[in-house]
Amino acid sequence: MTTVVRGCDLVDGRGTEPRRGVDVVVEGSTIREIVEPGNGAYPSAEVVDAQGMLVIPGLINNHTHGTAYGPLFPSGHEPLPHRQVNANLDRHLLEGTTTVLCVDGFITAEAVARTDEAHPVNVKAASCNTPACLDAAMITDGGGLTEADRAFTARQAVAEGAVALGEIGSGHTLGGGGASYLYLPEEIARRTGVRVTRSQANELKIAVLGRHISASAFDRDAVEEALENAGLAGLLSVSDVREIVSGVVLPAFDVALRGLAEAAEEAGKLDVPVLVHNAAASMTQVAAIARTDVRLIAGHSNHPSFTTREALDHAAWLKERGVVIDVSILDTFRGGRPDLTPDLLFAMFEAGLVDTISTDYAAGHHDPILLAIDRATKAGVVSLPAAIAMATSAVADTFPGLAPRRGRIVPGAVADLVVTDPVALDDVRTVMISGRIAVREGRLVADEASDDR
Ligand SMILES: [Zn+2]
Repeated sequence: MTTVVRGCDLVDGRGTEPRRGVDVVVEGSTIREIVEPGNGAYPSAEVVDAQGMLVIPGLINNHTHGTAYGPLFPSGHEPLPHRQVNANLDRHLLEGTTTVLCVDGFITAEAVARTDEAHPVNVKAASCNTPACLDAAMITDGGGLTEADRAFTARQAVAEGAVALGEIGSGHTLGGGGASYLYLPEEIARRTGVRVTRSQANELKIAVLGRHISASAFDRDAVEEALENAGLAGLLSVSDVREIVSGVVLPAFDVALRGLAEAAEEAGKLDVPVLVHNAAASMTQVAAIARTDVRLIAGHSNHPSFTTREALDHAAWLKERGVVIDVSILDTFRGGRPDLTPDLLFAMFEAGLVDTISTDYAAGHHDPILLAIDRATKAGVVSLPAAIAMATSAVADTFPGLAPRRGRIVPGAVADLVVTDPVALDDVRTVMISGRIAVREGRLVADEASDDR
C-alpha cells in the first residue's frame, strides 16, 4: 500500500530549512522517498492532498502522565479509568503526537504493552521504581500501587522495555504542582469542607514553605493573606495551615530528594537516560547529578517555581555539563494562570537553552506542543525547523529506545507524520502512524469508523 502526501511544505525534523511543494511517498509503514510533485510514478497510490499545508514528523513527547493503564504519577496514585487513559492518548494524537513516554513510573511492562496495543499512539514507559522513590510514593500516596507494581523494580522494567528512568521526583512527592492541585486541596477539603483552587493551594504552600520547600521559609503574614484569598479565614488558623502544608509536603520530601541521586546511579548502571523533576525544590540535587556521567534530562526546566533568572542560570549551568534541557508546555497558554506565563518559556528559547519540548500533565490540562511552537515562532524566539526538531528528532536521539527510526521524515524512517496548517500549527489535519492514517480532517479515524456503524 502506497500513500503520497502531495504538494506539501516539509519540515523534516532535522532542523534544516523547509522544502517547498514536495511529495512524501509512504510505502507500507516506511517513508520511501521525497520527490518533486506530480512525477506520476505512483499511479495507484492513495493521495493525501497537502497543498499549502505543512508536513512535519509525528511529535515525540517525553513527559506525559495518565497515558498507560496503571498507577498515576510517581506518587503511585490510583489509576485513571482505561477510558480516561484512552481519551488522554486521543488528545495527544489529535495534537500531532505519535509517540509518548509515560513517566508515571510504576506501571508494569505488561500494562504498558496492553495500552500500546489498545491505541494507535506508540506508548513507551519510564520507571521510577527504586527503593527511595517507592518509599516517597508510599509516604505521599501509593494508593494505586498493587503488590505487582511495587515488586516491578526499575531494573526489571528496563529489562522488559522501559527506555529510561523517570520521572524521578515529581510535583507530587516534592511539593510541586501535584501537591498544589491534588494533595493539598484534598486535605483542606477533608478538614474544612472547602475545596480550594490550585492557585490558592499553591499560595498557601509557598507562604508556609517557600519556593524551595524549606520549613525556615515560613511567613506568617503571607499565610494570613493566603488564607484570606482562599476564603479560609476563620476556618483554619495560621498554625493549622502550617501543620497541614507541612504534613502533606514534608514527610516524603527528603526521601524523594534522596531518590534523585539513587535513581541517577541506577540509570547509570542500567545504561538508560534518567528524566528528573527539575524545579526550585530539586535544583540543588539536579545539579549534583549533573556532575556524574549519567545521561540526564532536566524535565520541565521552565517550571513555574523558578524565577526567570534562576531558571535561565540553572539551565545554562546544566547545559554546559551536557544535561539535556527539556521544557514542558504545561497549561502555559490556555491555563490563565498568573504564575505561568509564556515569558519564561520564550526566554529559554531565546537564550538557546532548549533541547527538547514535552507537555507534562498540568492536572490533565496541558496545552498542545504545536500551539506553543506556533506562539514561540510567531514571537520570533525560535525558528520553526529548530522548534520542530526539539519535539521530534532531538527527543528520539535523547531517548534511544523511545522512538527508533522515528522523528525525521527521511527515506527509510518509520512513516509517522503530521499534516497541519502553517498559519495555525495546532490545527492538525492529518496524522499518520506507521503509514496508517489515524487522524483525518482533524478527527480520529476510529470515530469515523464508529459513525459508520
Ligand atoms: Zn515533574
